[in-house]
Amino acid sequence: MSTDGERKGALGEHERRGRKYIPAMASFVKTLDGARDDAPDFMWIAMIGVMDGDALVSALVNVQRAAVQRHPGRGNKARFDGRLSTLEGWSSKDRARHLPALVKAIGDGGLLPDKVLAVLRLYENLPGGWLLVDPWADRKVSVKMDSALTLLARAIAEWSRGDHLNALTKYLTFCWAVLAGGMTWDKKFAEYMSDFPANSSRRSAAGTMIRAAYSAHQGVRDARGESEAAIANAFASKFWNFNWKITDCILASDLSTQVDVSTPGASSEVIDPEGAGPADASELIEADDVTRLVDRCAAQYTRLIDAYFDSPDRDLMHPLAEEVTSGLILRVITGAASLCRAPHQWSSQFASTNLRQLAETEIVLGWLRAHPEDFEKYRDYGLGREKLAWLHVEDLVSSLENVPEELSGVADKLERRKREAPILDVTVVSIESTFTGISLRAMAQELGMESLYRTVFQVSSGEIHGEWEPVSRENLQRCHSPLHRWHYVPSTEPPWIHDLTLPEMVVNMTERLVGIGIEMLNRSD
Ligand SMILES: [Zn+2]
Repeated sequence: MSTDGERKGALGEHERRGRKYIPAMASFVKTLDGARDDAPDFMWIAMIGVMDGDALVSALVNVQRAAVQRHPGRGNKARFDGRLSTLEGWSSKDRARHLPALVKAIGDGGLLPDKVLAVLRLYENLPGGWLLVDPWADRKVSVKMDSALTLLARAIAEWSRGDHLNALTKYLTFCWAVLAGGMTWDKKFAEYMSDFPANSSRRSAAGTMIRAAYSAHQGVRDARGESEAAIANAFASKFWNFNWKITDCILASDLSTQVDVSTPGASSEVIDPEGAGPADASELIEADDVTRLVDRCAAQYTRLIDAYFDSPDRDLMHPLAEEVTSGLILRVITGAASLCRAPHQWSSQFASTNLRQLAETEIVLGWLRAHPEDFEKYRDYGLGREKLAWLHVEDLVSSLENVPEELSGVADKLERRKREAPILDVTVVSIESTFTGISLRAMAQELGMESLYRTVFQVSSGEIHGEWEPVSRENLQRCHSPLHRWHYVPSTEPPWIHDLTLPEMVVNMTERLVGIGIEMLNRSD
């Protein structure tokens, strides 16, 4: 009954920890979400990088040189590496001593264009504001806020993609470390850095090296308690939450009029303004499809009824097997017909109820066919469940001082039920998950129906239980704003998907099950 053999296939690249399967990558990737914590910290130089590209590097390195000439030496906390959090880490003494020279160098180097300053001014208590905002209080900027925010959005989007701009900004942290004398590069790293970013043929490899080295370096600093991560994190939280107040979501339907700020790592999400927002399903449905599908269900109904009533033999001495079988079969036929009549349900979100019911019924019928002695277990298990439900009602009613009208109606119904056969008092209640005492998965395995269990039952169960993947796929949509960090928002698209393959699949499965059921009914003698 062990499932390990089966799991080794699909989950072969996973490490097992208890009941969890951890992808191999996850054991060494600390976080893939660097944008959340780090992008705000790099916003200043990322914006300049977007505007001026590689010219940024030489301009900023010049400022670093200006700073380091006055720098008191190794071990000093005053670092000028392009990040806001490290600026914030400067002592008031260091700030006072370096401010005039830094302001001049930033001004001369063109490292605070109007748009950039306009953006930085938006964020209250900006880390590093003592250098990048306060000294420039008198400067008048004449830029439209929309265009300034678009620059910021582009910077965040490009930085978050993790390619050249990202490497460029991180490269500056190493430049500072070397200039300030706190770090030496190993030979290979130095060789790649010698012509970065000018050498375009090695740029990509060098960028990868920089990003990896940055992560490792930060990890070491975090471990030593040296990093400004706390400042960066506190600002990141303020940054993202404030962006909600000053900018709107960008939904798929807005994109035809928006700037190009695509989602990193989500290039498969093709934005097609024409295709966005399916119309109400009823407009898309051919009435012919409904008629054809409902006719197929009706034919299955006739098939079952004919097979049952036209049979020369019925086992009235032991009718249970025929009762259970025909009941289960009729239930899937009516379920399928109900889906076919409701085109609004033609999506995996809604049709999952039918698919799960069909898979479960096929496994249960397969089991009963192989173990005819279990028809009684099936019935008794159901009666036990019913009794349990009534006991809960009884408990609830007796615990209330004033029984609400709707509940007293239920209590009356219970009294009537108690008088009817089969007698509830002698009914055994089972709390097993199925009537067989083993799980449905184990039943499926014994019957060689694992594939049906995994591909239909489990997947549709995920839909019914509201697991994250179907919930996000069907009920949420991405906001495309880099300033909102591409969060999910409640979908503004109509949820009605017209996918004809779903009712087709349900009817096909129903036809197969009716065949199995009729075979079982006809061999009951
Ligand atoms: Zn949004």
